[in-house]
Amino acid sequence: MEKIVSLCKRRGFIFPGSEIYGGFANSYTYGPYGVALKNNIKSLWWKKFVQDREDVVGIDGPIILHPRVWEASGHTTSFNDSMVDCRNCKKRFRADHLVEETTGQDLEGKADEMKKVLDEKIKCPNCGKQAWTDVRNFNMMFETKLNTTDEAKEEIAYLRPETAGAIFLEFKNVLDSARVKIPFGIAQIGKAFRNEIVAGNFIFRMREFEQMEIEYFIRPDADWEKIFGEWLKLQEEFVLELGVDKKDISFREHPKEKLAFYSKKTIDIEYNYPFGGFKELFGLAYRTDYDLSNHAKHSGQKLEYFDTETNQRFVPHVIEPTFGLDRSILVSLLSAYHEEKVSGSEEGDVRVVLKLPKNLAPIKIAIFPLLKNKPELVAKAREVFGLLKRKFVCEFDDNGNIGKRYRRQDEIGTPYCVTVDFDTLQDGTVTVRDRDSMEQPRVAVSDLTAWLEEKLNA
Ligand SMILES: [Zn+2]
Repeated sequence: MEKIVSLCKRRGFIFPGSEIYGGFANSYTYGPYGVALKNNIKSLWWKKFVQDREDVVGIDGPIILHPRVWEASGHTTSFNDSMVDCRNCKKRFRADHLVEETTGQDLEGKADEMKKVLDEKIKCPNCGKQAWTDVRNFNMMFETKLNTTDEAKEEIAYLRPETAGAIFLEFKNVLDSARVKIPFGIAQIGKAFRNEIVAGNFIFRMREFEQMEIEYFIRPDADWEKIFGEWLKLQEEFVLELGVDKKDISFREHPKEKLAFYSKKTIDIEYNYPFGGFKELFGLAYRTDYDLSNHAKHSGQKLEYFDTETNQRFVPHVIEPTFGLDRSILVSLLSAYHEEKVSGSEEGDVRVVLKLPKNLAPIKIAIFPLLKNKPELVAKAREVFGLLKRKFVCEFDDNGNIGKRYRRQDEIGTPYCVTVDFDTLQDGTVTVRDRDSMEQPRVAVSDLTAWLEEKLNA
């Protein structure tokens, strides 16, 4: 994990947030290659789940919604972390985590029982004393204040803790405008915010993060288990498209007693992270008609579907596949990271290479002149760069020796490096180095675009 974190910083994928001010816990900036990787993953997702499907449409809703949205969804009252403070050293801990680590008991949400266990069995991990405050709930939604012209009416609003809310609010508008027929889905990619107190592992858990979510509306009498299974299969497909090895994922069904009362089934797709093993990557939940019914109740609006074929009116049920975008980025980096002994070189010479799926690589082709100080090579390389960048995301590099440039592109995950040398000036061919095989065939510049296109789409 440290190796990924350091590569991400060294090569401009991910930087610690607010670093010049000493850092800011749980916040990160996607650098030049990180944002490119992120956009490629978003595009892959949008193509697979929106563009290529006739039954899913997209929206992009606001981050700050009407505060009553969160009353309807239950977040205002029940979206809590249980915390406990040590009276001696003043450190604060997640109470449910302390209890579970010590006793294996899962007492999430049961403050009194947790307090009892803490007072009987658990010493402060920081100072060793046993002097706990009561277990208190902290709401994880970020509060913000809306300015108004009337001071008395200043209103608390929240940054959305999940993207799904906005989708339910637009159910009716989409229905009235998009010619969708049940079953259909509404998809959204966007930021969500959780006021987490516990530090996360790199970008695994952050206060602000991006979700890719779909609410898939079905008839109340539909074979939901079949549709649930189809979505699970698609989610698994998407994980594999991120370059993840099948052996690194597993499925964990939430036990019945841990399910929210309205949910009939929830499955987490987990990834085998280098910290603590299998943990959540994506989620899939069958939420019945809970959300639409509650928003109908709180808003006073009918959120129903009228089936013109059967003349039936009903509140659709919903299946909700959720994908974490930041975790998608994390697992694609973890899966792509390889250290390889370089054959034929001195013993112990290792190259670091990101074997990202080619469609996800931030840069597809790097173009080098063999030598920086030969104007005729640089001019020709610039010409090749101009040709290729019309079709592909390219980078021109003439810094340092050619070996260093290969190393750099390997660590960025660039699938192909094109080098212009003295032979190019004679016979119009260039060497094209393959990131994974490290082979370097010569290809005529006139054939280069077609050759690369075929390879990149293979
Ligand atoms: Zn303490």
